[in-house]
Amino acid sequence: MKILDGKKVSNDIKDEIAAEVAEMKVRGEKVPHLAAVLVGNDGASLTYVGSKVRSCKKIGFESTLIHLPEETTEEELLAQVAALNENDDIDGYIVQLPLPKHIDEQKVLMAVDADKDVDGFHPTNFGKMALDMESFIPATPYGIMELLHRYEVDTEGKHTVVIGRSHIVGRPISILMSQKGKAANSTVTLTHSRTKDLASFTKAADIVVSALGVPDFLKADMVKKGVVIIDVGITRVPDDTKPKGYYITGDVDFDEISTKASFITPVPGGVGPMTIAMLLKNTLIARERHRNK
Ligand code: NAD
Repeated sequence: MKILDGKKVSNDIKDEIAAEVAEMKVRGEKVPHLAAVLVGNDGASLTYVGSKVRSCKKIGFESTLIHLPEETTEEELLAQVAALNENDDIDGYIVQLPLPKHIDEQKVLMAVDADKDVDGFHPTNFGKMALDMESFIPATPYGIMELLHRYEVDTEGKHTVVIGRSHIVGRPISILMSQKGKAANSTVTLTHSRTKDLASFTKAADIVVSALGVPDFLKADMVKKGVVIIDVGITRVPDDTKPKGYYITGDVDFDEISTKASFITPVPGGVGPMTIAMLLKNTLIARERHRNK
C-alpha cells in the first residue's frame, strides 16, 4: 500500500509556482494577485480562507482578503463581486462557500467574471471543462487528477466509482476521469444518495473517489483488494479530548481499507492540501492569460 501524500505533492507544486513567481519578479512583471471574499464567521471557512491567504504570501503572490459581516445583503455582495471584476489588479478571486442562507449562491457565482473564476464554478468554465476546452478546473478535482498523475496511478481503462454528485467535486471529477488525457481515460460510474446497492459498484471498482462527507462510510468489505482510494471527505467530529474540540476525518475507514488498497489518500494530508495548491495554480494561469490578452 502506498500513501498518496497530498501534503508533499502540494508543497512540490507550491515550490514550482514560487520559482515561477520569482522569475516574474526578476523580469519586473506583476505577480499574480488572488482575492478571497468571505461572508460571516463560519469556523471551517475561516480556516480555509486563512490557509489560502497564507499560502499566497509564502509563494510570493499578492493576496487580498475581503471579510464581510454575516448580515451582508445579496446586493452588497454582488456590488463587491462587480468591483472585483472591474479591478485590473486582481487576477483571480474566490467567493468562499457556503454563503449565508439569505444569499442566492448561484446568483453570486454567475456574477463572477469567468476569466477571474479561479474556483472554476462559473457555468462558462464548467461547460468548457466538460467540452475539453481551456478553462479553470475546480481546484479539488484538479488536485485529485494531479495527485493521480504524479504518483503514476494507472487510470486508463480502469473502472472508477465516484460517490457523490456535487457540483464542486463528484460531478466534475466524474467528467475529468472519463475524458482523454493524463490520469483519465477511465470508465466512470457516478453514484449518489439514490444509488441502489452502492456496495455492488464499489466492490467492482479499481478506483473509488469518495466525496459524500460521512465519516467511515466506506468499509473494507465494500472494496476489492488492490483498489485505489481517493478520500475527499472532510468532517469535523466533535471531541473534547482534542485541543480544538474536534478532529478531522474522511469518508473512508482508513485503518481497515489501507490493508487492502494499493494507493490511498489520508485525511488530513491527502486531497485537502492539493485543493489549495491547485487554486494557486489556477491563479498563476489567470495571471498568464491576463498578461497575454
Ligand atoms: P455535498 O454535501 O454537496 O454532496 C454530497 C453528495 O454525497 C451528494 O451528491 C449526495 O448524493 C451524496 N451522498 C450523500 N449521502 C450518500 C449516501 N449515503 N450514499 C451515497 N451518496 C451519498 O458534497 P461536497 O460539497 O462534494 O462535499 C463532500 C465531502 O467532501 C465533504 O466532507 C466536504 O467537506 C468534502 N470536501 C473536501 C474538499 C477537499 O479539499 N478535500 C473539497 C470540497 C469538499
